Amino acid sequence: MRLSRYFLPVLKETPKEAEITSHRFMLRAGMIRQQASGLYSWLPLGFKVLRKIEKIIEEEQNRSGAIQLLMPTIQSADLWRESGRYEAYGKEMLRIEDRHEREMLYGPTNEEMITDIFRTYVKSYKDLPLNLYHIQWKFRDEVRPRFGTMRAREFLMKDAYSFDLDQEGAVRSYHRMFVAYLRTFHRLGLTAIPMRADTGPIGGDLSHEFIVLADTGESEVFCHRDLLEKPIPSADTDFNADLSPIFEDWTSLYAATEEMVDMAEYESDVAEDKRVSARGIEVGHIFYFGTKYSEPMGAKVMGPDGKEVPVHMGSYGIGPSRLAAAIIEASHDENGIVWPVSVAPFEVTLINLKAGDAECDAANEKLYGQLNAAGIDALYDDRTTGAGQKFATSDLIGIPFQLIVGPRGLASGEVEIKHRKSGERETIGIEDAIARLKALIEPERRDTI
Ligand code: ATP
Ligand code: MG
Repeated sequence: MRLSRYFLPVLKETPKEAEITSHRFMLRAGMIRQQASGLYSWLPLGFKVLRKIEKIIEEEQNRSGAIQLLMPTIQSADLWRESGRYEAYGKEMLRIEDRHEREMLYGPTNEEMITDIFRTYVKSYKDLPLNLYHIQWKFRDEVRPRFGTMRAREFLMKDAYSFDLDQEGAVRSYHRMFVAYLRTFHRLGLTAIPMRADTGPIGGDLSHEFIVLADTGESEVFCHRDLLEKPIPSADTDFNADLSPIFEDWTSLYAATEEMVDMAEYESDVAEDKRVSARGIEVGHIFYFGTKYSEPMGAKVMGPDGKEVPVHMGSYGIGPSRLAAAIIEASHDENGIVWPVSVAPFEVTLINLKAGDAECDAANEKLYGQLNAAGIDALYDDRTTGAGQKFATSDLIGIPFQLIVGPRGLASGEVEIKHRKSGERETIGIEDAIARLKALIEPERRDTI
């Protein structure tokens, strides 16, 4: 992408309305624009990041055996009356009436609708297990929308729903999602720790929130330090196998949010030097809820013994639009965002130090062609502005590498590569620059881990 032809409305001033770093940088980097309280447009740079996050989520959901579909944002109130949640949901639900005075709503979540789809088509235990997911906008009329896309009213969610014959099967489905989540967040460049969460009336221990540690997080969390360093299950994990050893291994170390923490247990379970009390951002939430929806909504299958039983369900959410902000909270410095390569809107900024100079332009054009040919997603800063502004823009929008090309270096056949994260610079022969960048970028894409 040539910057001169791109739409990148960066702001010089720090917007006053933004209270936290990620919100400030998302506005300054021209990623989002607020349209009304809790409603955001995703401008091209932000949209690119959002799409990259979604793609990683999709790849890991698919790897685990979940199947993608797409349900509408608007739902009928009648469906929600069947589960008893229409009245219970309260003011967070945006209720709408259509021209025929039918009661509708903008979906805050999709348990009812997916249960309806399931009961229409699936009748036998032979079709189980089944896990269906979609990535769709949700609306919740939050009491206090704030922190930009972190707590918005309209936000994107990946929500998956598992269906099993019995609790045992549902636990296996839960473990599959648990492992898929560990992999997903790791690929997004995050350390997200699964923490015990409230299971409500269902009870049991099958509810976890995945939490990213950050000072601006809305909840207080308590966990064992070793969880921060734990190796992630690899891409060749067999999702048909019994994944309970991985689940047990992760959940044997203490980790709980403030709603769930038992201080006495925390202090007796975790040695003092291993305790981490911090603030955290919830980026995902998984839970098992048995027959809570299948029972009232009549989602039943024929079991092997010929008897009809309501299916056991679980639901599994991740917020891609909250994640864009959470990644920034976890990775930035005073100059701007520091994107992990896997979600960076561009992998390299090609910085032409003397745009307008025939020789310099020619060398840059050639490198730009080579970057594209090498499959590297490059932003070519071909503007005629000063070098300082080009460096500042690239730093602000968080591009992992800069390839800096100017007349002085070219005279001796050299260019410079700057690493956004470490600030390190290396001078390299122009012929070797593309291969060097490829070697730096490819492992950081984390698509084969
Ligand atoms: P929270 O406790 O933060 O309000 P929640 O428990 O209501 O979240 P879930 O219903 O579990 O959230 O939704 C699944 C995921 O959707 C969350 O883990 C989060 O990533 C995302 N999410 C929920 N509410 C919002 C919101 N208002 N803005 C952006 N993302 C959200
Ligand atoms: Mg939650």
